[in-house]
Amino acid sequence: MYLYNSATHKKEEFKTHTPGRVEMYTCGPTVYHFAHIGNLRSYIMEDVLEKYLRFAGYDVNRVMNITDVGHLSSDADTGEDKMLKGAKRENKTVMDIAKFYTDAFFDDCRKLNIKTPDVVQPATGCIGEYIKIISKLVDTGYAYLAGGNVYFDSSKLERYYIFNDHDEEDLAVGVREGVEEDSNKRNKNDFVLWFTKSKFEDQALKWDSPWGVGYPGWHIECSGISMKYNGEYLDLHCGGVDNAFPHHTNEIAQSESYLGHPWCPHWFHVHHLNDPAGKMSKSKGEFLTVSLLEEKGYDPLAYRWFCLQSHYRKTLVFSWENLDNAAAGYTKLLSRIAALKPEGDVDQAVFGECRAKFLQQVGNDLNTSMAVTAVFDALKAKTNDATKLAVIGEFDKVLSLSLLEKAAALREKAAQMVQTGGGDYVITGEGDPDVDAKVLARYEAKKAKNFAEADRIRDELKAQGIEVTDVKGGASWKRV
Ligand code: AMP
Ligand code: ZN
Repeated sequence: MYLYNSATHKKEEFKTHTPGRVEMYTCGPTVYHFAHIGNLRSYIMEDVLEKYLRFAGYDVNRVMNITDVGHLSSDADTGEDKMLKGAKRENKTVMDIAKFYTDAFFDDCRKLNIKTPDVVQPATGCIGEYIKIISKLVDTGYAYLAGGNVYFDSSKLERYYIFNDHDEEDLAVGVREGVEEDSNKRNKNDFVLWFTKSKFEDQALKWDSPWGVGYPGWHIECSGISMKYNGEYLDLHCGGVDNAFPHHTNEIAQSESYLGHPWCPHWFHVHHLNDPAGKMSKSKGEFLTVSLLEEKGYDPLAYRWFCLQSHYRKTLVFSWENLDNAAAGYTKLLSRIAALKPEGDVDQAVFGECRAKFLQQVGNDLNTSMAVTAVFDALKAKTNDATKLAVIGEFDKVLSLSLLEKAAALREKAAQMVQTGGGDYVITGEGDPDVDAKVLARYEAKKAKNFAEADRIRDELKAQGIEVTDVKGGASWKRV
């Protein structure tokens, strides 16, 4: 696979430390609120990447943290504690908030067909790992104590900025965030590894450490969790593009200083979903969630489909009109797949060719719009329906759009629709020909103005627990 690497600013052939095995890490959500659909764009694209790698034959170990401590409202260790902010907003404990929004996040993921990573680790569960890393960083001179906190000393590194294509000035904390600088820091890019002097009087979660009772900084959690579950050599690190600086930059600084060797060669960053007014963010108050999409009648998978049509390295603009277009396209695709007849033998040669082409096209920097095109190409291919269905099912291992399941459900629904001779009266029911015949007999009786007979049939059906409703152009029935 060829994948763009933000660390080298180039598209490169993806290689792993151990051939055939991918150690993959994803920055998980900060669970103080619902995920917005922008966050979920990142998780959808990372899910496709993981599934593509498995499809290509790799054995993948994917690890994700859940940030339930230490993330302040500015990524540069200033501002409010996000978890505390959530707890105050809802008058609950931090742990209750964490549990509620972690569950909500995985509910959203389920609706979007996002697979749960192999390891999901809340940050509060690995305090011992962080203390071990920080202790070594202090002993080796990479970290220092000031004002009760432990800081990483960025001046000890020959190269601190890894990802920036920007002007150093723009990245300076304080200038960028518009917040006060921490006077304990020796250098502007130093960052907190461990807080003991919490500015938050009611800081809920605190642990003993060699530097006093306190809590970890945000960045250390990803290094600690990854090293625990992925080992010393990580192959692929993922996150939204806003994580590149300072979060990922700081992860690299502390991990490599601790390990004494390069840590992760490949960095995958998903660009943002913006609303027409700008970047979507949780702190802005009103934001778009999967539940809101559902309330408005959208299938969450129509949103997944919307995301797959654009490249992960391009900003995607959300509007209801764009989503409507995507939803209409998704429904049309499903009905075209539903029209295929699952009969005949799969042509293995055609199947193999389509698979190889898909692997190659999508393997060009995770080209998901080509993956979508490949489904349409399969529909048009010169082969039988059974082969088309097999090919589409194979592609869906990566796309995860429930294409075959949803098409089968549509097919079943269509089979439950009985058309009368002239096709002018459609009965939709639960697929029972005896009931369909009675409903039709009732219609014929009404047409012949034999209302007594029509009522008698309706009562007979009712006695069997069947409710008939007249609808435009026909009737529908269900067992109640
Ligand atoms: P958070 O819960 O704020 O820690 O963010 C979870 C993930 O969503 C991180 O990987 C962020 O980089 C990513 N993210 C945040 N905002 C957006 C956005 N508007 N579009 C896409 N990804 C985002
Ligand atoms: Zn992280």
